Amino acid sequence: MREAFIYKTAPFSHLISPTLEKASCCHLFTCKDGGVSEGYFKSFNFAAGSGELCDSWENVVENHRLAAEYMGFTKEDICRSYQTHSLEVRVVDRSYRGKGLVHPPFDCGVDGLVCKEEGVLLSVRGADCVTVLLYDGKNRVCGACHSGWRGTLGKIAAKTALSMCAIGAEAEHIVAAIGPSARSCCYNVGEELYESFLAQDVSNRAFFQNRDGKLYLDLQGAVVSALEEAGLKEENIADGGECSICNENRYFSHRRSGVLRGTMAGFIGIREG
Ligand SMILES: [Zn+2]
Repeated sequence: MREAFIYKTAPFSHLISPTLEKASCCHLFTCKDGGVSEGYFKSFNFAAGSGELCDSWENVVENHRLAAEYMGFTKEDICRSYQTHSLEVRVVDRSYRGKGLVHPPFDCGVDGLVCKEEGVLLSVRGADCVTVLLYDGKNRVCGACHSGWRGTLGKIAAKTALSMCAIGAEAEHIVAAIGPSARSCCYNVGEELYESFLAQDVSNRAFFQNRDGKLYLDLQGAVVSALEEAGLKEENIADGGECSICNENRYFSHRRSGVLRGTMAGFIGIREG
């Protein structure tokens, strides 16, 4: 379901999903502005980067602190994914607090996180890749994942929802929000990627558009479809419709800027009390 996310500029730029808010879910998707990073990473950047020029880890940690404290958490409450385009989802708890930010507490790539304990703030990142935040308000279970094209092909969003159900959530009560990411208006992809999706399931053809001889992938459509397969109701899946590639003023984009750019984050957690 498409819904307009609420865009706020103070104390930093971010988006809120009305569907998640209605479920009393503490969450947000960050945008570009309001952080402390400079240069290519200006300014609300959540990853040091992988190019020759990197942002300082101090800046990255400070940006996490700003987001966490605004949400009623501390930076020590953050459990941050260790993203490698894997299909790995981990259940985390309070023992992960204080470890997730500086020292990733995982022995391998972990692109999905689920949690049912209070006081843990889950964090996933993207700069064109889809970030998905999930919450079951009845059973108080939250989840988050990073779903680039590989994760989307492997249905990591569905795996994350099912992992939530394994610790007490019920699919019919899960609401999900799809953050700013590369959309089919801009996300031109190659033939190989098309073949990979079709090799998995010919019905995946529905997620590709052919315009002027070029292929465009609807990542969000594929994520929604995977979540529906996991049992989520269509009306409980909120797609903000925000494209990171063509909205330069608001979002970082790998497609637009390569490695010399910042990375946005999605946060979700169950507050204490
Ligand atoms: Zn676009």
